[in-house]
Amino acid sequence: MAATPALSAPSAGAPFDATTIERRELGEHDVLIDIKFCGICHSDIHQIKDEWGNSIFPMVPGHEIAGVVAAVGAGVSRYAVGDRVGVGCLVDSCGECEYCVAGEEQFCVKPAVPTYNGLDYDGEPTYGGYSQQIVVRDRFVVRIPDALELQDAAPLLCAGITTYTPLKHWKVGPGMKVAVVGMGGLGHVGVQIAAAMGAEVTVLSQTLSKQEDGLRFGAKHYDATSERSIFKELASSFDLILNTVSANLPINAYLGLLRVDGTLVTVGAPAKPDSFRAFALIGGRRSLAGSAIGGLPGTQEMLDFCAEHSVTPAIELIGADEVAEAYDRVERSAVRYRFVIDVSTIGAPPA
Ligand code: NAP
Ligand code: ZN
Repeated sequence: MAATPALSAPSAGAPFDATTIERRELGEHDVLIDIKFCGICHSDIHQIKDEWGNSIFPMVPGHEIAGVVAAVGAGVSRYAVGDRVGVGCLVDSCGECEYCVAGEEQFCVKPAVPTYNGLDYDGEPTYGGYSQQIVVRDRFVVRIPDALELQDAAPLLCAGITTYTPLKHWKVGPGMKVAVVGMGGLGHVGVQIAAAMGAEVTVLSQTLSKQEDGLRFGAKHYDATSERSIFKELASSFDLILNTVSANLPINAYLGLLRVDGTLVTVGAPAKPDSFRAFALIGGRRSLAGSAIGGLPGTQEMLDFCAEHSVTPAIELIGADEVAEAYDRVERSAVRYRFVIDVSTIGAPPA
């Protein structure tokens, strides 16, 4: 066991303590990573406040991890000391069920082990990337392409794969009209990926305040949902709507924006239930769907895609002492567009 500096929350909603946590000894198939950067996902906030009702404390969040390999176990051949690597939302799975075999470890029936706020198969709680080192099974480590800076790659490990997976699953490409609802951490990456896939992208944001950025990210159109008239003007116009909003939405109104056979896929994960009217689906043979992160082969594919197509998260790099303020800004939709923690500042005196 080795101690590593970390930001740890003792209970729901409590401020972070700068402390140390223990990482397990390096096993045969393990990789020890010196974490350099970790993104702040809205899921960190949902869980630190126990909004989903499944939180385990103390909690060290963080599942957008980018760093450098510091050591490898005897059975690891894919990675070597010095490699630039990432870890996303999962750190283990059974490896044998139909979903693991298909490379969709997020659906592992055992189930898969989340990077934090979960229990590892040995019963120990998992701790995430708001820390300086992590030990992860090699199968859950991905390679960061040279074209991506480590701090830019970090948000892709959750925001990237969570938007790439449904866009690929619903075969987004040229000739398709895609709307992205909410332009925060997930949304601003989703806009870039959908545009890179060749779709005609519309951003549906609460206001027009980020319009210039949305168009720069590759959107063709940008509309404010506070203008209720857009729900009439854009009725029956999209093949796919990607909902990245962390709060409940008036689902019927958004379903009305879909063409016949269109799909509203929700990746946003508000705590409270949504509701919809059967007629909002029946009329246009529409689908309401969900999607969870992605598997490991898809995560590597997504990183390579982003490197090739210059999909780059817009980040604000912060120190450990700025995390509380960053959480507050994420909750106020005042993030532009992903906060990334410079992990070297954890445990160090403020600059
Ligand atoms: P975020 O950065 O806070 O972005 C969410 C965006 O939603 C905001 O920037 C805002 O965009 C919009 N929004 C917020 N409150 C709203 C409201 N009341 N009404 C309408 N729009 C609102 O969050 P994120 O990190 O992208 O995460 C988004 C959600 O996805 C969270 O619930 C998170 O837990 C979930 N998530 C799910 C998965 C998965 O596997 N399914 C993975 C990661 C995250 P505008 O300012 O443009 O309106
Ligand atoms: Zn996330």
